[in-house]
Amino acid sequence: MSATPVLIIFLCSFIAALPAFAGQQISWPNDAQVAVSLSYDDALDSHLDNAVPALDEHGFKASFYLTLTSTTIMDRLADWRRLAENGHELGNHTIYHPCSASLPERDWVPSYHDMDQRTVEQMQQEVKVANAFLHAIDGNTERTLTPPCGDLLAGGENYLPAVRDYFVAIKFNEPPPIESVGLDTAGLTGAELIAALSNKDLNGKLVHLIFHGVGAEHLSVSNQAHQELLQYLADNRDIYWVDTYLAIMKHALSQLPTPPAPPQADHDQQDPMN
Ligand SMILES: [Zn+2]
Repeated sequence: MSATPVLIIFLCSFIAALPAFAGQQISWPNDAQVAVSLSYDDALDSHLDNAVPALDEHGFKASFYLTLTSTTIMDRLADWRRLAENGHELGNHTIYHPCSASLPERDWVPSYHDMDQRTVEQMQQEVKVANAFLHAIDGNTERTLTPPCGDLLAGGENYLPAVRDYFVAIKFNEPPPIESVGLDTAGLTGAELIAALSNKDLNGKLVHLIFHGVGAEHLSVSNQAHQELLQYLADNRDIYWVDTYLAIMKHALSQLPTPPAPPQADHDQQDPMN
């Protein structure tokens, strides 16, 4: 696969850079202890109806990972566009939301969206077209990805190396020393969400709070739980820095050593008239 040599060079440069950074942590703005990425997956009505008004009330910016076959894309395109103009992030969650049907409790995955039957090249094309589609909505060129279901294997092969260059960052694939922790929110009360945030050893880390439905739809939290969590984050802005995943990762990546420049390609040394 053509992307493999590039990936190996990238990884080697990272490994070479690591010792100088060992033991150091990323520092967050205003000396916050924890960076919090609030993300909302699957392009649901309840994001537009419930999550966005609650976020805007507190001035928090969040990331919305759009599945582009969601009916809300056609029906509420202006709402998604307005949300992006308001500083929220539209992230790539692919077009069809393919997942691996062979994993437990995956009876719902149709054979035509089964990642076990995909190739890396097919995933690469889908992800690339989804980025173009998102660009048509918000005009942005910088993007992050949340792989559907967290599944990375297309026909048994990891597809991330083939798409890594399209993104500033990919959820749960942050380069060291950036450390991230995911908190699944489905069905939790406000008190449980707050306890999960405050009980773990999260200092210096990036926390992903991943939502699906808010006050409706699948894997949901109640509006009350969502509101209580946001109020807690608003009351503790000295501890938690809340921003889009894109903004958090741009901030974190800016603190990493710059990898050495790749060797000049042959064509750069040729006569410029050719
Ligand atoms: Zn999803």
